[in-house]
Amino acid sequence: MKLRFLGGVDTVTGSRHLLKTDLHRVLVDCGLYQGVKSLRRRNWAAFPEEPASIDAVLLTHGHIDHSGYLPVLVKHGFKGRIRCTRSTFELCRILLPDAGHLQEEDARYANRKQFSRHHTAESFSPVDDITASFSPAGHILGSACIRVCHGGKTIIFSGDVGRQKDPLMRAPTPLADTDYLVLESTYGDRRHKDTDPIEELATVINATLARGGIVLIPAFAVGRAQLLLYLIHELKKEKRIADVPVYLNSPMAISATEVFHRHHNEHRLNAEQCRDIDAGTIYVRTVEEAIELTGRRLPAIIISASGMASGGRVLHHLKALLPNHRNSVLFAGYQAPGTRGDAMVNGADRIKIHGEYFPVKASVHNLDSLSAHGDYEELLAWLQQSHITPIKVFVTHGEPRAADAMRKHLKERLGWDAEVPELFSEVEL
Ligand SMILES: [Zn+2]
Repeated sequence: MKLRFLGGVDTVTGSRHLLKTDLHRVLVDCGLYQGVKSLRRRNWAAFPEEPASIDAVLLTHGHIDHSGYLPVLVKHGFKGRIRCTRSTFELCRILLPDAGHLQEEDARYANRKQFSRHHTAESFSPVDDITASFSPAGHILGSACIRVCHGGKTIIFSGDVGRQKDPLMRAPTPLADTDYLVLESTYGDRRHKDTDPIEELATVINATLARGGIVLIPAFAVGRAQLLLYLIHELKKEKRIADVPVYLNSPMAISATEVFHRHHNEHRLNAEQCRDIDAGTIYVRTVEEAIELTGRRLPAIIISASGMASGGRVLHHLKALLPNHRNSVLFAGYQAPGTRGDAMVNGADRIKIHGEYFPVKASVHNLDSLSAHGDYEELLAWLQQSHITPIKVFVTHGEPRAADAMRKHLKERLGWDAEVPELFSEVEL
């Protein structure tokens, strides 16, 4: 079995790993590159392997940087099956509307091999000489680590790995034994702040409301938007913040929230909590409603995608809110280099949106501790719980510094042989 690294090795986006056996080829994740232009340009380059030669795709989760390249792969001749957990399938149906016909076809497979309620790893064969199984990764709804077996050898792709103690998602399940591991390293060189994110959230909201301002929270449609709604709901219930209107302005996030409510077995909230949060949220669906909300000047909390302010409805809110010192912009997760989010978090005093510059007068905060990625200590704790002894670990999905730091942690703390692969390199397993 050979493994070729087709993306996501020097950056946190564009995850693509190709496994080759003598008979078949399986692509693990099929992500879009996001962030700086040089990365985005890779989306337009010819795919380094013939798409028609790939027999199947396995997805770790629905985020676009892991699934967004699927329509292109299909357009260029991929005809195989795409396998993922049930929730990932439903989220992809929202995230990849253009690939709707493709998703419908795969529904039958996703349905047949849906994510087990008891989280036992049921195995399936994406192609006849490979078996694979999903185990919960705790990153977003449906996210999974994928264990692939061929010819007596096993390899696990971690995908993105969640937190040990997330208010919403359950901790990632310990891994089954494996010969090889492909491990993400988004926070390979950083710890999350030890502060209580709920306390921090309350402080920013209260300070902003006291100034008569609006709190704008750019959030990923899938994952953090649901967590924020839950935390804000809890803060209101405990009367730690004023009862101001809470808007969710992202059609995609609204649909994702519906999927979230349908899958109680995969997260910590019960049906009643989901209903309460629903009742306390104003969903902004139409463009007309969104425009009206953009003109709003009264205190409120607005959650809108995208999470790194690289696109989406949040841009209109930023244009309206950034020039006023009364308002706050609260980022809630990893900000990739080159994104507007990254620039603002690093103190940019003006931001270009739709070809025009806007002064950053609003206060900007980064609630990094709300991240959906475990930091390196959390990853190490999870790996230790797993009691595995891989022959080799390939560290991917991190900026070069983060990936190299993770490699060192694995060597020094666990005594594992680890390396950071190069883009397009290929190894014999
Ligand atoms: Zn992700």
